[in-house]
Amino acid sequence: MPLLVMKFGGTSVADLDRIANAAEKVKREVERGYDVIVIVSAMSGKTNELVGWVETTSHLYDAREYDAVVASGENVTAGLMALRLQEMGVPARSWQGWQVPINTTSAHSSARFVSIPRENIDAKFEEGFKVAVVAGFQGLSEEGRITTLGRGGSDTTAVAFAAAFGAERCDIYTDVDGVYTTDPRITSKARKLDKIAFEEMLELASLGAKVLQTRSVELAMRYKVRLRVLSSFEETDENSGTLVCDEEDIMESKAVSGVAYSRDEAKITLVTVEDRPGIAAGIFGPLAEAGINVDMIVQNISEKNYEGHTMAVTDMTFSCPTNQVARARKALEDARAAGTIVYDDLVVDTEVAKVSVVGIGMRSQSGVASRMFAALAAENINIKVIATSEIKVSVLIDRKYMELAVQALHDAFALEKA
Ligand code: ADP
Ligand code: ASP
Ligand code: MG
Repeated sequence: MPLLVMKFGGTSVADLDRIANAAEKVKREVERGYDVIVIVSAMSGKTNELVGWVETTSHLYDAREYDAVVASGENVTAGLMALRLQEMGVPARSWQGWQVPINTTSAHSSARFVSIPRENIDAKFEEGFKVAVVAGFQGLSEEGRITTLGRGGSDTTAVAFAAAFGAERCDIYTDVDGVYTTDPRITSKARKLDKIAFEEMLELASLGAKVLQTRSVELAMRYKVRLRVLSSFEETDENSGTLVCDEEDIMESKAVSGVAYSRDEAKITLVTVEDRPGIAAGIFGPLAEAGINVDMIVQNISEKNYEGHTMAVTDMTFSCPTNQVARARKALEDARAAGTIVYDDLVVDTEVAKVSVVGIGMRSQSGVASRMFAALAAENINIKVIATSEIKVSVLIDRKYMELAVQALHDAFALEKA
């Protein structure tokens, strides 16, 4: 029997009516002759509420208990979806992560898949069940405890199941009708893309476009999963939405195909760091040990003979997510107290955002960075940090200009036009 994976995000299962609407879409595929694995998120807002409860109860919480609490939102929607399908006459059964079992590493709150054995679900399909409704975002560690995959992780559950069960396609149903040139909430000029290359989607996702979790794109690319993003609120058919596919399958090759942003960035500067071999290791080693996701790094040219220092000094700046600032500060202060690094001051700016332009066309077309900088200059937006790779240019700017910057860049690269 051909098999489809259909994933419904938080807004698509936000209440009982929406669960019923999603169940209708599943039933239609069953009527077309598919066995279906449905992956559900928690109702929208639920995971945030659960995270809030954990943080209020325990400041430096036990990560295992965080996962035990936070994974529960998906259990509710999985059961409700199975019940709704049964009410519609579709034989369906729900599955929590441990029942499949979805085996993961024990890295709580950012676990990775180890294996997804097919036997249990296959046996149910053989019994005549048409739909397996699987709770997204969760798994089971080697120690037998509940794990979660990181925020947005149900996308990754969906792709992993599509790979494990050899699904014909993995359809990600969400509150937008596809992947756009930028977040359609930021500009009405955003244009829906019919296709996007894996590499571009990967870069957009990792730079903040939350329409797909980064890891889901990585897995789809590795296991050649046909991955599609489409609307759960509109009528859809085989041609709806955006297909994430190989570069070779795309005709368009503009220098820039999308603009992404990440709102919750912080910039930390170590002022007058003594500049000697091993200093970068001395700073970023403790940060890595503290689990800080350091992103952009800038080191200034060192200055000699700085007052009060016996050797040349420099300033070192890096960015990390806002919610990791407290931990980063502690790691650096501890390293300073232990004498592994020497610096005068630590300056934290939590009011910054990262805006990036992405495109595989950049490999062959020059001038993207200068066009980007000119567009930001025209809006009087100051650039604090710059980072580039083969297919992206990112800048750190004041958060209050983030939306303006996205709109200006969308215009500058004429992304509204195909
Ligand atoms: P779900 O709950 O279905 O997983 P998410 O909120 O995680 O949905 O992702 C969908 C959201 O991603 C959209 O509502 C949109 O605001 C945002 N988004 C950001 N960048 C893009 C983009 N380039 N294309 C489409 N949506 C985007
Ligand atoms: N419910 C989880 C979250 O909000 C996982 C997901 O929806 O993908 O992050
Ligand atoms: Mg999501």
